[in-house]
Amino acid sequence: MQSRWNERDAQNTIERLAGAGVNADIALRVYSTQLLGRDPKLVLHGGGNTSVKTRLPDLMGEAVDVLCVKGSGWDMAAIEPPGLPAVRLAPLRQLRTRDALSDEDMVRLTRASLIEPNAPTPSVETLLHAFLPHKFADHTHSTAVLSLLDQPHADELCDQVYGERLGRVAYVMPGFALAKQAADVFDANPHVQGLLLHKHGIFTFGADAREAYERMIEMVTLAERGSRAAAKLCLRRPSCPRTRLR
Ligand SMILES: [Zn+2]
Repeated sequence: MQSRWNERDAQNTIERLAGAGVNADIALRVYSTQLLGRDPKLVLHGGGNTSVKTRLPDLMGEAVDVLCVKGSGWDMAAIEPPGLPAVRLAPLRQLRTRDALSDEDMVRLTRASLIEPNAPTPSVETLLHAFLPHKFADHTHSTAVLSLLDQPHADELCDQVYGERLGRVAYVMPGFALAKQAADVFDANPHVQGLLLHKHGIFTFGADAREAYERMIEMVTLAERGSRAAAKLCLRRPSCPRTRLR
């Protein structure tokens, strides 16, 4: 895969949205979310979401740290600032101390911390974004990554393809439990550049929009190559079900 980042387009997005009072963090979040969303290899069936941590005035005019994360009902390919509702970051992070949280309570608590009360409901993966420290986080359900994770020797393959660059999160349904587990995997190795979510997809992080986006492109490209190398690994394992089928 090729990075489609274009510095002039990124600057144009900043200038276009500055006129509407949108800050540069959110403008760049709009720009690279659209890049991801317009690539069918990355967002099959509309899956995926993105976020940025920034500072915004609340309705009383007081500056607060927020997470702007894709709202439900918005298509990444056509996202605009209203599709990235801002949620107060501190209360979201406090939720990590809980042992469990139902989906209904997660939605209620998240909506209660929205800056704009009429904003769309933030993604079901909001807490996963909130528990990570990085400014930008990109998440896709890339078919290449999913097919790599589905191979018979996935752990060994991922070691070969990514080494220590991506943390690995066992399968859990999206929601509070997944967010906590992903944050624990990250904390155990804070040097990782992203996370592989078993049977689900991939997160990449960055200090800026371009870094998070280009890490996604690089990791997906590595997955494409890794899937092609997977058959060789099976041949070296006489016990592999795939080899026995031949
Ligand atoms: Zn997902």
